Amino acid sequence: MSILVLGGAGYIGSHMVDRLVANDYSVVVVDNLVTGHRAAVNAAAKFYEGDVRDATFLNHVFDEEPIEAVVHFAAFSVVPESMAKPLKYFDNNTGGMITLLETMRAHDVKRIVFSSTAATYGTPERIPIKETDPQEPINPYGASKLMMEQIMHWSDVAYGIKFVALRYFNVAGAKPDGSIGEDHGPETHLVPIILQVAQGKRDELKIFGDDYNTPDGTNVRDYVHVLDLADAHILALKYLAAGNDSNAFNLGSSTGFSNKQMLAAAREVTGQPIPAQVAPRRPGDPDSLVAASDKARKVLGWKPNYDDVNEIIKTAWAWTQKHPNGYDDRH
Ligand code: NAD
Ligand code: UDP
Repeated sequence: MSILVLGGAGYIGSHMVDRLVANDYSVVVVDNLVTGHRAAVNAAAKFYEGDVRDATFLNHVFDEEPIEAVVHFAAFSVVPESMAKPLKYFDNNTGGMITLLETMRAHDVKRIVFSSTAATYGTPERIPIKETDPQEPINPYGASKLMMEQIMHWSDVAYGIKFVALRYFNVAGAKPDGSIGEDHGPETHLVPIILQVAQGKRDELKIFGDDYNTPDGTNVRDYVHVLDLADAHILALKYLAAGNDSNAFNLGSSTGFSNKQMLAAAREVTGQPIPAQVAPRRPGDPDSLVAASDKARKVLGWKPNYDDVNEIIKTAWAWTQKHPNGYDDRH
């Protein structure tokens, strides 16, 4: 039996595929390469290029492969883009989930692990955020993901498709050997952008806003290493395979770092000056997002290996130095 990884050529998906292969799972990847990279996919995985929204294509994959469970990363995930183009997000993210669940139902596949996000909480009432706290997204990206959670819930009620929604906070880092890593085009995430400045590929970091309601005025986020995240998915697959009920878990480190603190950490790790200046706020950014992640530790038995943001940045820097142009030189 195989695990189907949708979006397995993307940043987090490629680390997941790598980790599954290392744990002796048989892996099938579906990706349309809209933001992913073929070269990021571990050669031991079987690769199908196609779109999750294409029912004919997806049914073909489920006909061909003995799929026991699905891990679903395929989505658009850039908050400011979602503010400008909400329909693009509801179409790909929410629409893709409907086609996927319909295909799973038709093929009697009853387990799915899903990439949800801290963005489903919107502006939290308290920090750290618990899984039971209100989910009131303040951008279309978060709304599209919340709808996907709700669609899975009702598909569980009607068809018995069990799900684990993993609500990631800020994912960063790379496989420490630098062989795979984060390569979004254009890049929008804080850590890789800071490292592009360290590389000399950008002149400076623009810090989006320093008048937020936080200790130093810049946004506070909770960074989790991509390999710790992949491990949580494997635990979630085991949790579902053991016959447990659908559930949702936050995945974060439970420690918040401000954008200015992340910049200072990156200066320390890289030894580079990394020029920065404050720029206007970016639409859709809540002040602080920090996870209460004790539920994942307790119920799934998750034990993150990276609890130090400098160590996380170090692995991202190893990837950046080994692949200064990302996957471009490997296509
Ligand atoms: P990514 O863009 O690198 O990966 C997404 C992958 O899905 C890409 O390979 C892309 O080509 C593929 N894809 C997108 N739409 C598709 C479609 N319709 N059909 C087939 N393939 C499709 O993004 P990522 O940073 O690896 O994020 C993966 C998931 O994690 C996303 O669902 C995102 O919402 C979620 N997430 C990410 C973060 C983060 O910090 N990066 C935080 C919270 C949640
Ligand atoms: N950020 C920034 N400059 C950049 C990119 C990001 O100041 O060039 C800030 C962004 O406003 C947010 C934090 O860094 O406060 C993390 O943003 P990212 O896009 O990495 O993740 P998000 O929190 O949106 O999921």
